[in-house]
Amino acid sequence: MTESADHPLTLFNSLTRRAEPFVPVHDGEARVYSCGPTVYNYPHIGNMRAYVFADTLGRVLTWKGFDLTHVINITDVGHLTDDADAGEDKMEKMAAAKAQSIWDIARHYTEAYWADVKALNIRQPAKWTIATDYIDEMLEFAKQIAPKHCYELDSGLYFDVSTVADYGRLARAVTEEGEGRIEAVDGKRNAADFAIWRKTPAGEKRQMEWDSPWGKGAPGWHLECSVMSGKVLGFPFDIHTGGIDHREIHHPNEIAQNQAFCECGALSDAANSGANIWMHNNFLVERSGKMSKSSGEFLRLQLLIDKGYHPLAYRMLCLQAHYRSELEFSWEGLGAALVRLKRLLGAARGLLEVVTDGVTLASVRATVTHQKLTPLVDKFDAALSDDLNTAVALTVLEEAVAVKKVDQEQKASLVGAMLSALGLPLLPREDFRIRPKDATVGESEIEAAMERRKAARADKDFATSDAIRDELAAKGVEVMDGDPLGWEWRLS
Ligand code: AMP
Ligand code: ZN
Repeated sequence: MTESADHPLTLFNSLTRRAEPFVPVHDGEARVYSCGPTVYNYPHIGNMRAYVFADTLGRVLTWKGFDLTHVINITDVGHLTDDADAGEDKMEKMAAAKAQSIWDIARHYTEAYWADVKALNIRQPAKWTIATDYIDEMLEFAKQIAPKHCYELDSGLYFDVSTVADYGRLARAVTEEGEGRIEAVDGKRNAADFAIWRKTPAGEKRQMEWDSPWGKGAPGWHLECSVMSGKVLGFPFDIHTGGIDHREIHHPNEIAQNQAFCECGALSDAANSGANIWMHNNFLVERSGKMSKSSGEFLRLQLLIDKGYHPLAYRMLCLQAHYRSELEFSWEGLGAALVRLKRLLGAARGLLEVVTDGVTLASVRATVTHQKLTPLVDKFDAALSDDLNTAVALTVLEEAVAVKKVDQEQKASLVGAMLSALGLPLLPREDFRIRPKDATVGESEIEAAMERRKAARADKDFATSDAIRDELAAKGVEVMDGDPLGWEWRLS
């Protein structure tokens, strides 16, 4: 056995379109900002893929021994119906449709989002930044960059993208007029210029508006993220994450503002993008369009739960794919992920009782020394260090669970550490049973019938046993004799 070294962590940086070694700004630390949800509606499971990804990144940074500070924001003002710069404020629109105050809308959907975060075993970040808590800081930031980088129009204060070097290098395309993405605003100097402060039109009153040197109004969405990330983590910080759609408009605009701010504030690196690494998860797609929040019943995590799936089956589905690959959602795929999770956790439960979060590679190396296990530590670390290859890491975890004739304590601590790095807790076996909300028969009734059937079979009374099976089938319960996972029944 050769002694193996840790693998350097490499991450794909959208700025350079290359995988790069992770070199922290502050020794031993990792500071990460993730664009959070706009809380005008429930998140769909595609949105939640972005947070499973950000959580996985955080867990891998912890695994590698970095002291993690993760910030996720809650956008409760300023995100328009078009990412570029047009349309209505999403929050105002929903509040009007529901005849409720924006504050109530924000509270309701923030709580719904936090419930999904918990259900998916996403760790709590060090800080949730709420956009409306940072209005003063946004005004300060805007005042600082306005003289050199902005101009005022009737509708607001606009950022002139020609005032910073290399605008749009993250998107690899400067958005041209005529693409149909940017609504014409009279007086805009460049098609890609965007509002950092939107004035309330004369004679109108918005539910959310604040005084500013440019009149009453509200901040632009891009300004919010620049301000909250810079304020809490300090420019430059390590990693900024978001969904791939943000690579085109939102993040290039954040970068432009960050560059302007660093230059005006005479920060050491004048052309600073704000973050050294920009990472983007690809989309979860669904063919019939149910992901769209405008399609009535859309794919929320709660819908998966109502159909009887444990929410962690969805985490498993995400982990099976690389975060940079598009992932197609299907109920069959979710079912297969659930079975895989059941099998894995069933075997792990034979070894240990709880998974402790935050285990590091160094501590695993210190406790896991058996020669059959150390190559697996290595393979697992190599997979996660290779731009978070969770798909491979999962197969290594399954290998570890299956290893025979090794010290059981060491095996248990290795499996526990791997589960913690992937964010998979141990749950009671029953939690993974498929139990649709609208099932007409309760579990105690099924269990009682199963007991009667068992007794009938023990007495070799096969007529009664068959009759009980048929009765259950009529109620939508499938009896699963000989199921390899040992499940006795399921609701179909
Ligand atoms: P929003 O609430 O619209 O600001 O979106 C929250 C997060 O979800 C952002 O990081 C988006 O980029 C991301 N996102 C939106 N749709 C999807 C999708 N279908 N799959 C994965 N991520 C998505
Ligand atoms: Zn953002």
